[in-house]
Amino acid sequence: MLEFEAKKPENLNQLLEILESKKSKIKLLAGGTDLLVEIHNKSDRLKDFDYLVDITSLNELKGIEAKDKYLKVGSLTTHSEIVNSDLIGQEFPILKKAAKTIGSTQIRNRGTVGGNLSNASPAADLITPLIVLDGRVVLKSNKNKRELRLSDFLTGPYQTDLKDNEVMTELKIPFVDSNYYFNFQKVKRRKAVAIARINLAVIAKIKDQIITDIKIAFGSATPTARRFVKMEEYLKNKGINQLDYDLIKDKTGDEMVKITGTRWSTPYKKPVVGNLLKRALQEIIKEVQ
Ligand SMILES: Cc1cc2nc3c(=O)[nH]c(=O)nc-3n(C[C@H](O)[C@H](O)[C@H](O)COP(=O)(O)OP(=O)(O)OC[C@H]3O[C@@H](n4cnc5c(N)ncnc54)[C@H](O)[C@@H]3O)c2cc1C
Repeated sequence: MLEFEAKKPENLNQLLEILESKKSKIKLLAGGTDLLVEIHNKSDRLKDFDYLVDITSLNELKGIEAKDKYLKVGSLTTHSEIVNSDLIGQEFPILKKAAKTIGSTQIRNRGTVGGNLSNASPAADLITPLIVLDGRVVLKSNKNKRELRLSDFLTGPYQTDLKDNEVMTELKIPFVDSNYYFNFQKVKRRKAVAIARINLAVIAKIKDQIITDIKIAFGSATPTARRFVKMEEYLKNKGINQLDYDLIKDKTGDEMVKITGTRWSTPYKKPVVGNLLKRALQEIIKEVQ
C-alpha cells in the first residue's frame, strides 16, 4: 500500500526548497486528474514516493500573458482557462480546439497544462498542438532554470526529462504570423469523455495558394507523439489545388509504419492517419478559399 505525507507549499521558493531537500521521494500534485487515478489504480507507472506535494496554490505557476515574441502560459493553467482565453482563441485557436475536446467540464476545470505535458501520455491532447507550435517548457529547480522544446522534454511514453528537483513553471509558445492556418483532429471511441485513439495537429503557412511551411504531429499513432517530417517535406511547396490525396494517405500510413513497425493496431491506424491528414488539409484549404 502507498503511504505518504502531504505537503502544501505557499510559494514557489518553498516548493523549490522542498524539492531540493527531499529529491526523489516527491510527487507533485496539480489537478490530480491523472495522478489520483494512478494512485487509486495502484498503477505500475507510479514509483514509490514519501511526499505528495500539492502545488495548486502557487500563484507563480498561474496566468496567461502575452510577451514580446511568445505567449506565456503558467503550468497550472486549466483546460477550461485555455478554452475561455480570448488571447489563446485569437493567437492559437488550435490549442483552444484541442483543450475543448479534453474529458468533461469537471476534468477541464481541474486538469492543467503542466499535468497534461508532464504525464506525457502518447494520447495527451495538448501535446500535438504544442509540438507543431514549437512550444517550450520552462523547468525550475532551486539552483537552475532551463528551457526545453516540448519534443525534447518528452523522452518516451509517460516519460520526460524532468529532474527530481524540478517543477515545470510555464510554457512558452512563439507567436506565428497571420499566414498560418491551424487544424486539430481527434478520433475517439465515443463522443464524450474519451481519450484519443489518434489525434493530429497541423499548422500550415499558405501564400498565393502554395504551402510554404507545414508542421504535422500525430499523437497515439507512434509510442510518443511526434512530427511526421517526411510528409512535411513532401507537402512543402505544393499548390493547394494540386494535392493527390490518395498518395498523401498512403505516404502518411507508410511513415507511421516505418516508425512503429507492424503491430496489432496497424491495420486500423494505418488508413486512419492518412484519412485524418486528408481531412485536416481539406479543412485548411476550405478556410483559405
Ligand atoms: C475521465 C478523464 C478523462 C480525461 N480525458 C482526457 C482527454 O480527453 N484528453 C487528455 O489529453 N487527457 C485526458 N485526461 C487526462 C488528464 O485530465 C489530463 O492529462 C490533465 O491535463 C492532467 O493534469 P492534472 O493537473 O490533473 O495533472 P496531475 O494528475 O495533477 O499530474 C499528472 C502528472 O504530472 C505531474 N505534474 C503536474 N504538474 C506538474 C508541474 N507543474 N511540474 C512538474 N510535474 C507536474 C504530476 O506529478 C503527475 O506525475 C482525462 C482524465 C480523466 C480522469
